[in-house]
Amino acid sequence: MTTISINMQAVRDRIAAACAAAGRPVDAVQLLAVSKTWPVASVREAAACGQRAFGESYVQEGAEKIAALATLDLEWHFIGPLQSNKTRAVAENFAWVHSLERLKIAQRLAAHRPAHLPPLQVCVQVNVSGEASKSGCSPADASALAHAIAALPNLRLRGLMAIPARMQDSAVQYQSFARLGTLFAQLNSEGLALDTLSMGMSHDLEVAIKAGATVVRVGSAIFGERQSNVPN
Ligand SMILES: *Cc1c(COP(=O)(O)O)cnc(C)c1O
Repeated sequence: MTTISINMQAVRDRIAAACAAAGRPVDAVQLLAVSKTWPVASVREAAACGQRAFGESYVQEGAEKIAALATLDLEWHFIGPLQSNKTRAVAENFAWVHSLERLKIAQRLAAHRPAHLPPLQVCVQVNVSGEASKSGCSPADASALAHAIAALPNLRLRGLMAIPARMQDSAVQYQSFARLGTLFAQLNSEGLALDTLSMGMSHDLEVAIKAGATVVRVGSAIFGERQSNVPN
């Protein structure tokens, strides 16, 4: 067994245990393997363990891996900061975007999504940590933004995403995840049919699952500590 296959099993076990502890079915939570900074060979190893969904934060790096692995049936999620000059490459290459925080970016993705592809599946990223974080729209703006995105062609709004500031106290950490969960329930009560709550990473996936995560985005617990000191 390789390190990646051992780690993959350990992460699956953590997800299953967290689901059991939260009284949720194990298939309520999907694993997104975050392969940013790791080579194509690492993605192949994870794919050999049955992993299908992979997350990338850098457009060029992601596009290269997607091209190199085109013969495998993988699903690629863009999870990084998205500038307007990168929307075409994202719309052409990825199946999902988790990090949508501005209407202008959503409009560009809708315009650039090729007609032969299914709609781009998107989540609105919300800043649930206040001043401790710069990315994501404010919770107060989330409803208007979500309704505007839901009305765009070629995109399908699936849910919300957050990267809460890291807290030592897991009860405090839980509160920020729970804020996203509350917002998710509110938007659904407003008529948006959202099914995806993308929250939780290597160090806090248990707390996120307790608060209702449906997708956890896990990098270092699968692939190891990232060597490069690029952000995220
Ligand atoms: C890098 C990254 C992750 C994975 O983080 P780990 O701590 O390595 O699990 C998850 N989500 C986003 C948005 C990331 O940029």
